[in-house]
This record gives sequence, structure tokens and C-alpha cells, in this order.
Amino acid sequence: MNIRNHKSDSKQPTLMQGVLLRIFATAMVAVMLFSVFSYFYAYQQEKEQRLDDLREYVADRVKADSVIFELAEDNLAVFKKEYLRLYLSDVEVTEEDFWELYFEDEEGATRMKKKYFDGVYTEDGIFRYAMSSFIGNNQSVADPDFQRRLVLTYRLLSQVGPAWVNRFANVHASFPENGIVLFWPEEPWGLNARADLPMNELGVIKSASQQENPERMPLWSGLYFDETAEEWVITYQVPIDYEGKHLINPSHDVYLTDLMERLVLEHPVGGYNFLIRKDGYLIAHPSEPSEEQRWVGELSLDKVELPAVVQAYELITEQAASDNDGIVQIIENKADKSYLVVGELSGPDWWFVSVLPTQVIQAVAHHSALISFIEGLALVLAILAIVYMVIRHQAEQPLAQLRVAADLIGRGEYDRIAEQQITLPLTLKNEIGLLARRFVEMAANIGNARRDLENIVEERTRELAAANEALEQLSLTDGLMGIRNRRSFDQDLARLFEQGMRGEGVFTLILADVDHFKSYNDKYGHAEGDRILKEVSKALLHNIRDVDRVYRYGGEEIAILLTRSDENAAVGVGERMLESIRALRIPHEESEHGIITISAGLASFTMHMSSSEVLIKEADRKLYEAKSRGRNQLLS
Ligand code: GH3
Ligand code: MG
Ligand code: MG
Repeated sequence: MNIRNHKSDSKQPTLMQGVLLRIFATAMVAVMLFSVFSYFYAYQQEKEQRLDDLREYVADRVKADSVIFELAEDNLAVFKKEYLRLYLSDVEVTEEDFWELYFEDEEGATRMKKKYFDGVYTEDGIFRYAMSSFIGNNQSVADPDFQRRLVLTYRLLSQVGPAWVNRFANVHASFPENGIVLFWPEEPWGLNARADLPMNELGVIKSASQQENPERMPLWSGLYFDETAEEWVITYQVPIDYEGKHLINPSHDVYLTDLMERLVLEHPVGGYNFLIRKDGYLIAHPSEPSEEQRWVGELSLDKVELPAVVQAYELITEQAASDNDGIVQIIENKADKSYLVVGELSGPDWWFVSVLPTQVIQAVAHHSALISFIEGLALVLAILAIVYMVIRHQAEQPLAQLRVAADLIGRGEYDRIAEQQITLPLTLKNEIGLLARRFVEMAANIGNARRDLENIVEERTRELAAANEALEQLSLTDGLMGIRNRRSFDQDLARLFEQGMRGEGVFTLILADVDHFKSYNDKYGHAEGDRILKEVSKALLHNIRDVDRVYRYGGEEIAILLTRSDENAAVGVGERMLESIRALRIPHEESEHGIITISAGLASFTMHMSSSEVLIKEADRKLYEAKSRGRNQLLS
């Protein structure tokens, strides 16, 4: 039974395990919930923060990168105004003036003289330099208006050029007649161009022609890679007409390499930027364009293998308002799992797009959730450690001590607890401490109760023994005469007879009888007779030795057993007894002696006697003889 109990005990989790497990499970659920909450909270926070930052960043970038385009537009607006003023003035340009600037080369192309590139002081005291010009050999320069336009362009360009090329590659003007004048300090382009170069059939200049641009709006060319300058370039051109005649296209070449490199290098953490033209041409993207695409100059979305950009373009064209001047828009690209922060560059119709993959936000949220989880876990473990120590000290050890105490009580060893021979958590200031103190009290009480019980039992046993003895005594005593009764006599005689037969000692029997007692009763009354019997027995008791015994044999007959005495000594004892009765001097008028007397017969044990009856008969015979011889005498 015990063994089975202990077995099932050991299978159950301990108090410690139960508490720790429960705390751990509950706390971990809380930690998990908190981590999940932390994830979503961090995600939301990070998303808002990142998108806010990006919006600001894109707004700044768009503003900064737009400056160059706005400047180009402002410059060429000035140029247009000044050129028209000059063209419509009465300033004359002679053929001499023209050829002062130009020469015709061997292949029939007309070019500006090299000194105007190298630098020359003109009559008006102005230093003119970096100028070059080229008219293809398919084009006559005989037309005075053409010559005048060329020369006026030279004058105006050489005047404004030095101020403008700080921020631009060059400033130049192209002509519908396949001619060009340039202010370009790095490059004497007009001297180097192929003589039969058909410039006005090339994309950039052609797009300013009246056929291609009937609205006569200023226009930004597509992006192209200038091999000579090793720069990405776009060209801004303002077609100038007068009275239906296309006069000239002043133009700025804008280097975009810086802008594009900045776009690639200075991107937000985890994201990237790209530039795309509103009509679907990719201007710049972190991935390098192929060699072929460089030459094409314009990256049509059909040709790029960037699905994210294609999706982004579709979303932007769908959602971005066309007139969102300066407003940065945020578009979620669900397919690419990213956010698009879109700003519009003024000047060319470009969108500056900053892409923020949601993965970046998720990573931060994950990190935050992980930190929360680790912190939570650490906290839980710390709490568990504390709980472990508290339970160990406050419960587990005390309970183990109480179990030892309980075992001792089971074995009945109360005193070991009451005397505090084992360690118990008595000083703990909690229920267990209280329980331990009660335990000690209980053990002491049980121990005391047991001792009391044992004492009571002992006392009762003693009393019972005494009562038994008294009862025994009572059963062997005669109620009237206060001496031993016939039963006692029979027992003692049988014992003495057996001892005698074993040779362990001889003894003597005296049988005595009150003389004429019937007549005493008759004369003095039965009650008085009883009183006399008491007095007689008392007197007899006084005259025997400690070793001798007096019995009521029956009626007014008395038996005396004398041990450790020979017959003579016994006769002496018998005589003294008779005398003691006589000495009472109890009057008995009916007796011849006038007082109460007794007669007695004496017989001693001999080994020849076959039974105690023989001894009794012998004593009785002597008594009878004493009666018949006149009573008041002892016969042996
Ligand atoms: P004797 O022995 O001298 O021959 O004459 P006796 O009168 O004594 O004759 P016996 O011994 O035969 O008679 C016994 C009488 O003792 C009978 C009875 O009245 C009386 N007696 C016996 N027991 C008691 C007793 O307990 N109380 C009283 N009062 N008398 C008793
Ligand atoms: Mg008698
Ligand atoms: Mg008698």
C-alpha cells in the first residue's frame, strides 16, 4: 500500500515543477502576444517613419535636381528674348563680317575659325573664346539672313556663354539649315564634326523642326551618352520662329552623370531610386544599362528587364496625378512588395522614384519583435529563477521537513518532533511555518495524551489487581466472624497436605467448638450469639502466631492450622487459645462452667495419612472426645 502510494507520488509533478511550468506557460503566452503586438506596432511605426523620411528626401531631391533644369529653362528664355531683340534690330551683318568668322574647309563644310575657340580680343574689347561652329557641306551659306543669324548667334553666345557654362556642358544653337554654333570650352566641336554630318536629320535637332514640333514648344531631348565627354547628357532646346520662319534653336546640354550617380549612390537604406520619363523611358536605374542601350540612349521599358520598374511605371501612370506639382506621392506596389515614393522633376517630364521594399520594414519589425521576445524570455527566466528560489526556500524544503515529521508521527515517534530533534521550518512566517509549529504542538499533545493514557491504564491495572486481591480475600473470609472461611480452609489444608506429603513440612490441625452454644442462643438470643462468635474469633486471632491461621469451619466450629511447629508446641498454642476464651469471662448461665468455653481436638499430619480427611476425622474424633469428657478442654 505504502509502496504503491510512493510510486504514484513520484509520477506526479512536484509542487515546484507544477508552479514553474504554469508560470512559464502563462508568461510565455504573454511574451508571444507581446512579441506579436510589438511586431505589428514596430511595423506600423517604422513604415510611417520611413515613408515620412522618404517623402521628405524625395521632395528635397526633386527640388535640388530640378534646379539645373529650371536654370536651363530660365537661361534659354533669356537667350530667346535677347536673340529676337537682336534679330529684329537694325544691326547689320555683312558678308565680310561673316567670313571674318568662318572659313570653308577642303570638303566644303563651313566652320568657325579656330582662333575663336582659342580666344581672341575683338574690336569692342571683349575676349571671345570657346566658340566653334559648323555648317554641313550639303548646305550653302550664301543666304544673308542665314549668315546674319549665324553671326548674331556667335555674338550672343560668346557673350552669355562664359556666364552659363559653370553649370552646363555647353550652350549652343542649332539651325534648321544643318548648322550649329557652340560655346563649349572643352570641345571645339565645330572644327571636329564630319564635313557631311547631317545634324538636322538626327533625333535631337530634328525634334525641334516645325514638322516634328508644330506647337513650337521648348523641349527636352531624351537621354543620350556623350562618348566624347563620357557623360550622360540631355539637351534642352527652345525653337525660335519669327513670322512662320524657323530661325534657330538655342540649346543647353545638361550633364546628368552626377545626378545619376547621386541617384545610384545616395539611396535610402535598404531601398533604391530610379528616374523614369513620363512616357515610359527609364532614365536612370542602379543596374547598369547595357552597352547597346547606351548607344540607343533611351531605355524604353519594353527593352529593360526590370519587372519591378515596369509594375512601378504602370502604378505611377495609373495613380499619379499629372499636375501634382511638387507633391510627393506614396504608392504601394503590392506585386513587388514595396512602396513607391514618387516626386516629379520640373523641366523634363521625369518621375524621381524611390523604392522602399516592405522587407526592409519587416526586418525592423522582426528585429523589434525578436528583441521583445528575447527580453520577455529573459524576464520570464529571471522570474522563474526567483520563484524557484522562493519556493525552494519557502515551500519545498519546509515541506520535505514536514514529510519527515509526518513519517515520524506515522511511526509513533512523537517525542522526536516534540523535542525538535529534527529540523522543522518553525521560523517561516507563512502558513507552512504555522503548520510546522502546529505539528510540534500536535506531536507534543499526542505524546502527552499517550503517556497520560499509559499512566491511567497502569493505575487502573494496579487498582484492578488490588480489587481482585481484595475480592479474593473477601471470598476467603467469613463475613460474620472476620476470619478465613471454610473455602480458605479447604484450599490451605489441601496445599499444606501436599507440601507435607512432599516432605516440605509438617503441620497440626485443631478443631474447636463452642460449648452449649445452642442453649446460649436460646437464652441470650441469636444476635447476642453472633456477637459472641465475633469476640471468640477475635480472641483466637490474638493468640496465634503469624504463621498460624484460624478458619470458621462451620456453624460455631473453628479450625486452626499451625505450621512450623511440632505437636507439643501446637498443644501449647491450643491451650492458650482455650484460656483466652475463658479469659473473656462471657457469662453463660446454662453452661456448667458459667461462662463461654470451647472444646478442641488436635491432630498432627503424618506421612501415613492417605488424605486430609483422615487428619480432619482424627481432630474431630478428639473434639468429640473432649466434649464427652466434660468440655472446656483440648484433647490430642
Ligand atoms: P455441645 O456442642 O456442647 O454438645 O452443645 P451445643 O448446644 O453447642 O450443640 P451443637 O454444637 O450441636 O449445636 C450448635 C448450635 O450452635 C446450634 C445453633 O443454634 C448454634 N449455632 C450454630 N451456628 C450459629 C451461628 O452462626 N449463630 C448463632 N447465634 N448460633 C449458632
Ligand atoms: Mg457444634
Ligand atoms: Mg457446640
